[in-house]
Amino acid sequence: MRLSRYFLPVLKETPADAQIASHRLMLRAGMVKQQAAGIYSWLPLGFKVLNRIEQIVNEEQQRAGHIPLLMPTLQSAELWRESGRYDAYGDELLRITDRHKREMLYGPTNEEMITDIFRSHVNSYKDLPLTLYHIQWKFRDEVRPRFGVMRGREFLMKDGYNFDLTKEDALHAYNRHLVSYLRTYERMGLQAIPMRADSGPIGGDDTHEFLVLADTGESEVFYDSEITDLKFGDREIDYDNVEQLQGVLEEFTSRYARTDETHDEAVFAKVPEERRRTARGIEVGQIFYFGTKYSEPMGATVVGPDGARTPVHMGSHGIGVSRLVGAIIEANHDDKGIIWPEGVTPFDVGIVNLKQGDASTDSACEALYRELKAKGLDPLYDDRDERAGAKFATMDLIGLPWRITVGPRGLASNTVELTSRRTGESEELSAEAAVNRLA
Ligand code: ATP
Ligand code: MG
Ligand code: MG
Ligand code: MG
Repeated sequence: MRLSRYFLPVLKETPADAQIASHRLMLRAGMVKQQAAGIYSWLPLGFKVLNRIEQIVNEEQQRAGHIPLLMPTLQSAELWRESGRYDAYGDELLRITDRHKREMLYGPTNEEMITDIFRSHVNSYKDLPLTLYHIQWKFRDEVRPRFGVMRGREFLMKDGYNFDLTKEDALHAYNRHLVSYLRTYERMGLQAIPMRADSGPIGGDDTHEFLVLADTGESEVFYDSEITDLKFGDREIDYDNVEQLQGVLEEFTSRYARTDETHDEAVFAKVPEERRRTARGIEVGQIFYFGTKYSEPMGATVVGPDGARTPVHMGSHGIGVSRLVGAIIEANHDDKGIIWPEGVTPFDVGIVNLKQGDASTDSACEALYRELKAKGLDPLYDDRDERAGAKFATMDLIGLPWRITVGPRGLASNTVELTSRRTGESEELSAEAAVNRLA
């Protein structure tokens, strides 16, 4: 992309009403525009990051054997009356009446609808196990929408639902989600720690939240510092292997790590004092096992091996796709701007032309731009007629992991400058070597 033809409405001033770094930076970098309290347009740069996050979530869910579908944002109140949640959910539920006076709602989550799909089409235990998921916009009428996309009212969530014959099978599905989430967050350059949590209005017994440690997080968390040394890495996982997944679950959940809702001082006191940590965290996902809470009242049953009908064991598993954009920035920025992890960056590399309009500098930039694209990279070429300082400031603000600076002085000795956004270190090398380094 050439910056002169892109739509990147960066702001010079720091927006006064944005309280935390990620919100300020998303506004300044022209990633989002607020349309109403907690409701945002995703401008091109923000939309690109959102799509990359969505893509990683899709890949990891499908790697775990989970199947994508798409349910609508609007739902009928009828379904929610069947589960009893139409009244129980409270003021976060946005209720809508259509022209025929039918009661509808904008879905805050989809347990009822997916259970309805299941009961309409699945009859036998032979069709299990089954996990269906979608990535769809949700609406929750939050009392205090704030921190930009981190606590929006309309937000993008991946929500997946498992259907199993037995509790044992459903717990295997739970473990598949836990493991796939560990991989998912690591690919985004994030450490998200599974912590024992409280089930809230979804209901259920087993549940973990995934938290990214950050001072601006809304949850208070308590953990054994050993947990932050754990890395998932690129280990091979067989998602059908019950023992292997159970092993990963134990590795990542055996140390003390809880949110304030489940925190227990007496248990925490058993952690050696020098390893006890209290911090803030951002909830970027949650997994639940809730058994037959929805299948029983809604009649989602299968015929088992013995010929008798039994309600299926279910769980639901969410990832805050749009919240992750903010969480990643909270964990990766400095006073100049964002520092994207390579896995989610909107462009792979920026090209800064120090002397726009100079024939040889322009053609060197054009050649570099073409070669980067030929290698499958996605470069952003700042070809505007701007001062070098302004171009550097924009690149630092939008946070691409690499910058290649091209100017007449370097070209005289056949070099360009390759700079890492994260370390700030620069290296002079030939354009060809720079391309090969990034490819
Ligand atoms: P919170 O405690 O932050 O209100 P939640 O526990 O109500 O979140 P879940 O029902 O567990 O949320 O939804 C799954 C995920 O969706 C959350 O882990 C979070 O990442 C994301 N999420 C929830 N509410 C919002 C929101 N208002 N804006 C953006 N993302 C959200
Ligand atoms: Mg909530
Ligand atoms: Mg929560
Ligand atoms: Mg939650």
